[in-house]
Amino acid sequence: MALVRWFGKPELFITFTCNPRWPEIADRLQQGQSATDRQDIVNRVFNLKLKQFFKDLFSSDVLGNIKAYCWTLEEQKRSLKHVHLLAIRQQPLTPEWVDDTLWAFIPDPNTMPKLHQIVTQSMLHGPCGTFNPNFPCMINRRCKANYPKDFRSNTEFSLYARPNDGTFHEKNGFRFDNRWVVPYNPWLLLKYNAHINTEVGGSVKNVKYLYKYITKGADMASVGIEDADQENTDEITNYISSRWITASTATWNMFEFPTHGRHPPIVRLAVHE
Ligand SMILES: [Zn+2]
Repeated sequence: MALVRWFGKPELFITFTCNPRWPEIADRLQQGQSATDRQDIVNRVFNLKLKQFFKDLFSSDVLGNIKAYCWTLEEQKRSLKHVHLLAIRQQPLTPEWVDDTLWAFIPDPNTMPKLHQIVTQSMLHGPCGTFNPNFPCMINRRCKANYPKDFRSNTEFSLYARPNDGTFHEKNGFRFDNRWVVPYNPWLLLKYNAHINTEVGGSVKNVKYLYKYITKGADMASVGIEDADQENTDEITNYISSRWITASTATWNMFEFPTHGRHPPIVRLAVHE
């Protein structure tokens, strides 16, 4: 909140997810191993990719000059490691810049074959909704990310152009059109070949939610098996504040890789000092 007070609301919200199919990982697996068996390799590669990714964003200004940012690493049990990042740019966003930089459509397979392959592999959401009511994004029979989005011919800030031009990609018997594409930056996607959701931060209402979300900490669970006899249940001994640590998290921490970062640094000063 101190960053927002000083610099204004974050304009970009980026989620970068580790891709276990990266050749740097796949080429180092021994016969019979899958990436989940080798968290040491997966984490080392993801950490290196992140270093380069931050360099591209914060030193090479791939998405414009960024004056302040914060990021945290997240992982939900079996899911892949991903980084959430909020960035505040030097220059205010314009619809033209957004239209140029953030795409939400399936690119032409003839003129952009590589990008087409990455988008269709990593940037299509679902299908969910009535097509697949058990997809993880479904809460109370609605997609929590509001997919499929509406078609739209022009970009209006956080509503990206999703032309209704008949483009589709068929996967597992489902026809994905532009309504199912997760917004991305073509340059970042081509360089990193991963799920990199790049979005406009949206209204000031989102700021608190986003900061809270990216700093909410680890998931917790406590599980026990006991008799159905309610009278002997000791709630006090049952109450354990527990933390779930996966092999992936454990490995990341043993390597002492960073779990969060921000710029500029913020130091809380005691008033009387
Ligand atoms: Zn969904």
